[in-house]
Amino acid sequence: MHNSRILTNEFEFFQPADLSELFDLVSDTGVETQLMAGGTDVLPQMKEGRKSPQRLISTMKVKELDFVTLEGNYITIGATAKLKAIAAFCKDIPSVDALYDGVSAVGKIQILNMATIAGNICTASPAADPVPPMLAMDASLTLQSRNSQRDIALKDFLLGPGRTALRPEEIVYKVNIPMPQSGTGSEFKKLERVSADIAKINMAVVVIRKGNICQSCKVAVGSCGPTTLLLSGPDKILGGKEITDLEGELIREAGASVSDEITPIDDIRSSAEYRRKVASVIFMDSFKVAWARAEGEAL
Ligand SMILES: Cc1cc2nc3c(=O)[nH]c(=O)nc-3n(C[C@H](O)[C@H](O)[C@H](O)COP(=O)(O)OP(=O)(O)OC[C@H]3O[C@@H](n4cnc5c(N)ncnc54)[C@H](O)[C@@H]3O)c2cc1C
Repeated sequence: MHNSRILTNEFEFFQPADLSELFDLVSDTGVETQLMAGGTDVLPQMKEGRKSPQRLISTMKVKELDFVTLEGNYITIGATAKLKAIAAFCKDIPSVDALYDGVSAVGKIQILNMATIAGNICTASPAADPVPPMLAMDASLTLQSRNSQRDIALKDFLLGPGRTALRPEEIVYKVNIPMPQSGTGSEFKKLERVSADIAKINMAVVVIRKGNICQSCKVAVGSCGPTTLLLSGPDKILGGKEITDLEGELIREAGASVSDEITPIDDIRSSAEYRRKVASVIFMDSFKVAWARAEGEAL
């Protein structure tokens, strides 16, 4: 029987100061090793006995990983950037409302102060709040090992609950999010049982608009499948179409496609039926907000 307040297993703890030291440790794959950033997922799992590594390696003192910046046409976020720092950065950037709200929706201030972007992505929870906006904004990750680097789309990185495309000798180095082009508007919504809970369902909608023409409509939905789902239906229905009525047939058809495309299950937070019903409504509400924001209207 595990006591959920203490770590019962013995392990070695390492805090490398730079990437070179980090890769010395990560490259030694012979010992059961757990990488940790803010520890808000890893430490509860260790306390509950779900993980008992021989070595725990913290990334938090590796200076090269802690940044949030504009690099060319991308917002680039280092692996150990804290969610609070990312939210503060996004506040000053136009057209990234969904990203700001998705990042800010994680837990409460204690969690935002500790949790990192790489930790949130690598936990690969289908309910993660920062993931829907990043997916809908076509984010990619730069993965690094001692001798090589590769980029992978976030949608290809997330394979299932707790499963990613990360190889044993790799770490997430940074997240790359294309800067929204002009005419972009976005919205993030989260339904939860009580305040600061994990989402029953969350969704990001990102539209690009030229006058009344919807150039594209990207929708990502969490807690409704084995990973956060990037949907194709809404864009097929609305992309290139003139939107004259925000309550009209086209929008309702796109909403119905959201409910059809998700694959929710019954679990402790909600039922599949509720999630399917509410998904189309959340989509239609979010579309309205994103559409108005794309024209610079506040809603
Ligand atoms: C009370 C509470 C409330 C929460 N509420 C929410 C919520 O509302 N919404 C939500 O989305 N989440 C929530 N969470 C989950 C959690 O806070 C997030 O998933 C957090 O972002 C994880 O980041 P971390 O830095 O703490 O990760 P850690 O726990 O340190 O690590 C998580 C995983 O990421 C891996 N990892 C970390 N950095 C790297 C890297 N650079 N390269 C490769 N792998 C890496 C670790 O090996 C581990 O597998 C909550 C957690 C708690 C405890």
